[in-house]
Amino acid sequence: MSATIIDGKAFAANLRARIAGGVSDFRAKAGRAPGLAVVLVGEDPASAVYVRSKGKATREAGMQSIEHRLPADVAPDVLLALVADLNADPGIDGILVQLPLPPHIDAQAVIAAIDPDKDVDGFHPINAGRLATGLPGFVPCTPLGCVMLLKSIHSHLAGLEAVVVGRSNIVGKPMAQLLLAESCTVTIVHSRTRDAFAHVRQADIVVAAVGIPGMITGDWIKPGATVIDVGINRTEAGLVGDVDFASASQVAGAITPVPGGVGPMTIACLLRNTLVSAGRRENVAIDLDALDAPKDSAAC
Ligand code: NAD
Repeated sequence: MSATIIDGKAFAANLRARIAGGVSDFRAKAGRAPGLAVVLVGEDPASAVYVRSKGKATREAGMQSIEHRLPADVAPDVLLALVADLNADPGIDGILVQLPLPPHIDAQAVIAAIDPDKDVDGFHPINAGRLATGLPGFVPCTPLGCVMLLKSIHSHLAGLEAVVVGRSNIVGKPMAQLLLAESCTVTIVHSRTRDAFAHVRQADIVVAAVGIPGMITGDWIKPGATVIDVGINRTEAGLVGDVDFASASQVAGAITPVPGGVGPMTIACLLRNTLVSAGRRENVAIDLDALDAPKDSAAC
């Protein structure tokens, strides 16, 4: 058996096209473009690449991209003052502080300083609490993208056994919350789990977010399961996921590749959250059903 390949790149391109349509409608009604501010501290090359591609995608969607670059040795108070200015700026709908931050800056304090209603990354504790309690807020972009991909395969997620491997605040925990909200039966496997294999082996849905190249091989996968690989690992063989694609794709029913699976969904969902924020702030209705779920999922 060979799995259906879940084409995240194509899905994200379609989502971005729907967002661009929503942005042009928003601009006509609100008289301005949605604004996303991205703050980069220091010169980390990977972060600089991420910030550049976020800016490009933001502009391509018809939104305003505002980039702030601060030196690596910036005083924490200067960064916090910039966040306060962005919170107060009526033209800014989303604020993203690129992580990781230099070690002398308390990243949690910076995240907590962002207005939760502009926290389009969904990392603020208030948004984590909203997600956990079923209130509207902002959901972290990577897990949100994973749910969209899962829904392109499963018309109903309710009742399915889902195993999330990894428990980070950015991916694993919000992923588990989203699957729970979809009425899956959710297990979180982590570094201290006694028998990770046994848990993964009984899952209808596996989401791998660990950071260990090829950790989950085909023998871990229940035949027909859907496998979402969040991992992005740079190896000598190139970019690989946490799932061994060659063996897992022989057993799974559907699987995301790396690259071209979850990765492209993250930026698309950031744009999606920024448009949603702009709509809420200007009282312009955004049709979330039309935005999030393509009518013909097979085409995406
Ligand atoms: P993290 O390092 O914060 O968390 C890793 C998690 O894996 C931890 O919770 C840990 O408990 C768990 N873990 C470690 N060893 C384990 C083991 N042997 N068995 C089971 N669990 C184990 O990482 P993260 O930020 O959640 O990222 C995970 C992966 O996803 C990384 O490869 C990262 O690059 C990638 N990522 C991709 C995107 C994207 O856009 N596609 C976004 C964020 C992260």
